[in-house]
Amino acid sequence: MNELAQKIYRNQRLTPGEAVTLFDWNLLELGRAADYRRKLVTPGPEVGFVLDRIINYTNICQAGCLFCAYHARGGIVAPYEMTIDEILRKVEELVAAGGTQVMLQGGLHPHYTLDTYTNLLRTIKEHYPEIYLHSFSPAEVVNIALNANMTFHQVISALQEAGLDSMPGASDLLVDRIRQKVSPNKMTTAQWQEVMTALQRNGMHSTATMTYGMGETLEERIQHFTVIRQTQDETGILKAFIPWSFFPHGTRMEEVIPATGMDYLKIVAIARIFLDNIQYIQAGWLTEGLDLAQVALTMGANDMGGILTEEVVVKATGIQTETSLQQMVQIIKNADRIPVQRDSLYRAIRSYQ
Ligand code: SF4
Repeated sequence: MNELAQKIYRNQRLTPGEAVTLFDWNLLELGRAADYRRKLVTPGPEVGFVLDRIINYTNICQAGCLFCAYHARGGIVAPYEMTIDEILRKVEELVAAGGTQVMLQGGLHPHYTLDTYTNLLRTIKEHYPEIYLHSFSPAEVVNIALNANMTFHQVISALQEAGLDSMPGASDLLVDRIRQKVSPNKMTTAQWQEVMTALQRNGMHSTATMTYGMGETLEERIQHFTVIRQTQDETGILKAFIPWSFFPHGTRMEEVIPATGMDYLKIVAIARIFLDNIQYIQAGWLTEGLDLAQVALTMGANDMGGILTEEVVVKATGIQTETSLQQMVQIIKNADRIPVQRDSLYRAIRSYQ
């Protein structure tokens, strides 16, 4: 066993330089090492998922990111905004189906103010106090704060007071060289980190995501991991890490060649080994497909994320992966693991032995 492998099996922290070399490893060796590290974190056979619903309330967005197929663009994608009644109906359907979590996700609408967001949160919580609102993103916090001349902490406090329970990390790729090319109107890496610090100050949890395959180098992929690991060292608020591969169809980056399944499994495995301070690595079935997500469960992943009823942002790129409770249970069972419906704080609700 070489020195780096020994370091992994001794559960020691890897340097960014060491992590880059893992991309050259044989996939099966890398997967075995990642599964070993996963077992140190969650030794049991349980794999969790949450029954949730994404509500994409508007596609009107002033950021206009090149990698996004979802936002409204003249003559290509028609704009829409949901009414509060439409949103409440969708929450009602989720509650009727036994769901527990709502993710409100939308574009950075130029006319939405802090009141728009707090009114939406308050109205949902008044009608459905039992629903956990894991919603919006750091980009909204930055946008609202800059427009209203408020601090990130003040914006988050107002959202929390109105009913926000936690916020997805929606970190895309935390490499400013790439961000300036593909999303110059969205927050910077430093602003993302500042929002995480503000969330911690408010006692709120978040997650970290990764959109890779947008022209970054392998070193820059590890740079993204390094920002996340450092943020987690400092805040401890990141419940999970969720990688997605960039799918260019329908975006303004259609010339990009999509990442492969091998790339995805390596990202999952290296994330498990390098992000030694994050408990849950989610298998991203929505973008990668259920079969590949199932394989990811043997290479470091230990959660399947949400059922994500009615997601439309990824579907805008032409990806049509869908799942149901029954299918999710079957996929996890077929991976020789025990499916567990969990809540947003990763506490078990029901086990499907
Ligand atoms: S990724 Fe988000 S911020 Fe960027 S254009 Fe799409 S909806 Fe807007």
